[in-house]
Amino acid sequence: MSSEIEVVEEVQSRDEQSGAEESLRNDVYTAAAYGDLERLQRLVEQEGCPVSEPDGLGYYALQWAALNNRTAAAQYIIEHGGDVNATDHTGQTALHWSAVRGAIQAAELLLQEGARVSAADMNGYQTTHVAAQYGQTAFLYHIVSKWNADPDVPDNDGRSPLHWAAYKGFADSIRLLLFLDAHRGRQDTGGCTPLHWAAIRGNLEACTVLVQAGKKEDLMLADNTGLTPAQLASDKNHRQVAFFLGNARRLLDKRCDGNSRLGKISKLGLAPVLWCIILVLLVTYIHSVILATKMPKLTAAAGLLAWFGVFLASVGLVMFYRCSSKDPGYIRMNMHDNQDTKDDEPLLKIEINNPALLAGNWSQLCATCKIVRPLRAKHCSTCDRCVEQFDHHCPWVSNCIGKVLLDIFFLQALHLTVKYFKLFNLSFT
Ligand SMILES: [Zn+2]
Ligand SMILES: [Zn+2]
Repeated sequence: MSSEIEVVEEVQSRDEQSGAEESLRNDVYTAAAYGDLERLQRLVEQEGCPVSEPDGLGYYALQWAALNNRTAAAQYIIEHGGDVNATDHTGQTALHWSAVRGAIQAAELLLQEGARVSAADMNGYQTTHVAAQYGQTAFLYHIVSKWNADPDVPDNDGRSPLHWAAYKGFADSIRLLLFLDAHRGRQDTGGCTPLHWAAIRGNLEACTVLVQAGKKEDLMLADNTGLTPAQLASDKNHRQVAFFLGNARRLLDKRCDGNSRLGKISKLGLAPVLWCIILVLLVTYIHSVILATKMPKLTAAAGLLAWFGVFLASVGLVMFYRCSSKDPGYIRMNMHDNQDTKDDEPLLKIEINNPALLAGNWSQLCATCKIVRPLRAKHCSTCDRCVEQFDHHCPWVSNCIGKVLLDIFFLQALHLTVKYFKLFNLSFT
């Protein structure tokens, strides 16, 4: 494998420093980290300590305040000369640090005070990368929806936030990024896609989300060393993931191309066959039982009953056809052509302020349809659409059982009618 992502474990060291030194240090950095406004005021106003200078390790007081979401301290620091865009020796700003623990209020303050949302550190990480690295989905959502942060920007190695979320196994962040139109097939400098990275780390849930939202080609893409995600998972001894990816590829191989003749036939399912069988049986019944000349003549009452049965069966057939062809409650997809999307245009303006997202219900995001689906709606893998009040996909009616449950009642009526015919037939034979 070409190169593995080196995760900068800055938070741990930040914690260790702030924890160990808290009882000893009496400086603005510790006061900022702990949001100790009184001590901060005393240090700045009485002892004249500057807040715009970095500490011994090169980090700023504003960064410490942002890391721990100390908005009051951050506000005080900004008011007393702290630079919102000051960068440490790694090129990170206070905004980068606020993303580590998802400090939304601190980030909001920094951005309102003029922090640059697109600031990149020496690795090319923007705030969206950091949020994805630490699985801060709500934070990511906030800076993208409100401040137009780029959710699909590559770092110096060509890795997008989606690569990072996949590598670290944060399924909700992956769902959100896919919903925000992050490019699934983006290859980094090593030729790896987000799916490659999820496979390398053996993140099954991440792989599942990416595969469900993806296409067959995603599973077949090879990195610079010529390995597919399944081969990489196998190489790294992640058997479950390797099995899942191999299986997904076999399933997609079997699922015929929807545009080919065979694909179109397979998409039709069993409904047309069933419909024809019932029609043939009905015609045979009329021809060989009701209108048969060789059989004893029907009485008026029996004849009426027989024709009533034919009528019911015909109604059943019509309902069956409706059931197969009717929209089961598909939710409109939010797909749009990438070429039509302008760079400065916030993505999916209507959906982005959905209450479900504001409440952090990430499972309501469909990464395939790129919609926020209502409760009880699910994505049908056969129809490849989200269906309202989804129950299951029925191969007999070749349709989803969603909001059309009422029609299923009519289908039941059809079954009953067929049974009625059987009984009627038996009484004559
Ligand atoms: Zn869907
Ligand atoms: Zn379906």
